[in-house]
Amino acid sequence: MEKIRKYFDIEMETKDREELEALQLHRLKLQLKKCYRASEFYGGKFKEAGVKPDDVRSLDDIIHFPFVTKLELRDEQLAFPPFGRHTVAPPETWAELHPSSGTTGTPVNNLWSFNDVRNISRWTARTMWTFGVRPGDIIQNGFSYGLWVAGMSTHYAARELGCFVIPIGAAMTERQIDYLINPGSTVLLCTPSYALHISERLKQRGISPEDIPLRIGCFGGEGGTEVPATREKIEKGLGIEAFDYYGLAEIGPTIASECPRKAGIHWIEDHLLIEVIHPETKKPCGPGEIGVLVITHLTKEATPMVRYWTNDLATFDKRKCKCGRTHARSLGGILGRADDMIIYKGAKFYPVQVEKVVRSFRELSDEFCVELTTDPKFSTDVCTVVVECLKEEEIPKVAPQLKQGLKEECQVTPEIKFVSFGSLERTTFKAKRIVDKREREGNRH
Ligand SMILES: [Zn+2]
Repeated sequence: MEKIRKYFDIEMETKDREELEALQLHRLKLQLKKCYRASEFYGGKFKEAGVKPDDVRSLDDIIHFPFVTKLELRDEQLAFPPFGRHTVAPPETWAELHPSSGTTGTPVNNLWSFNDVRNISRWTARTMWTFGVRPGDIIQNGFSYGLWVAGMSTHYAARELGCFVIPIGAAMTERQIDYLINPGSTVLLCTPSYALHISERLKQRGISPEDIPLRIGCFGGEGGTEVPATREKIEKGLGIEAFDYYGLAEIGPTIASECPRKAGIHWIEDHLLIEVIHPETKKPCGPGEIGVLVITHLTKEATPMVRYWTNDLATFDKRKCKCGRTHARSLGGILGRADDMIIYKGAKFYPVQVEKVVRSFRELSDEFCVELTTDPKFSTDVCTVVVECLKEEEIPKVAPQLKQGLKEECQVTPEIKFVSFGSLERTTFKAKRIVDKREREGNRH
């Protein structure tokens, strides 16, 4: 019976939309009041914006509250070290510290209280159940353990689900493959880049996906799984069904994930209020319109965020999914980073679009990068897509097709550079897709 149960928490996952929003509003009011009273950071911000928690009558009233940015949190923690004044719960309730990955600048410290750990473990178990993970599965956790949010949360969720875990982390590719054979993991958790790398090594070792019992892949930490060509490569290469989930250090891990219908990622709306905001006008986007995800914690205790500006791009869809779940979705998952937008010859595009095109070519490897340089003669920007062709003799055939594909997808034609197979860096963590070598101050990639 347990194995065929479709939902982990049927009552919450299929709650009538009106009831779900009433629950959100109730939790939002409580959360805003707590932040206003217990945090000088929020108290000051709300007063400056002329808003009070008591003014909130509907969920739409959230738009009157000010955004919180990562830069602001960094400054707050520098001025009031080590955690800033947005810690709402008292220190004796703190359980864990999970700073942002800190690829640029000082990492922002985020705290989880004991209740936060309980909620995170529970909702992560819910997402993994939705993917089809069941008690008795052998989970190979290839997410990085330690400070990063994904490793610990999925580990706790595996316990919640009653699964056997191999806590290998994001390392030792050969041993990852050994464990896929014996004891024969049935579920793999890692970034999609790392999944592709494992499948490449599996092939090189002459092991067919049919020879291993692996059946489910839970992939997060970066986009890619929802790019059809990438999903197909991962699923075929490992003989599995691949699912996408999304999280970020400031808000939490696995906060949105796919269902068996693979019709976008469902948000954990009982714990979060999601908005999609136009990056320039800062007004809410309409249905289907791409904007920046702005997220408010409804239940987080230790370092709650109110209107956190994620910089991640997505759409928002409240329509009930065919899977029966009523929690809203972002179709196509996370579509890129607002600051990863490439502007070239007047066209605007994102690395995820390049990925879509590159990975539709069987003749190319899964790796690619977008190189931005300066033309020494004219001091203009040059944008080059660097790819690996599996067989050198196919370059003349692939080159014009790739150029055409990129032109159609990105509305501009970048330069193309072919390098030999294996020259681009393989990663066990998040792949770096933009290499900015332009001669100017303040370039950030
Ligand atoms: Zn669904």
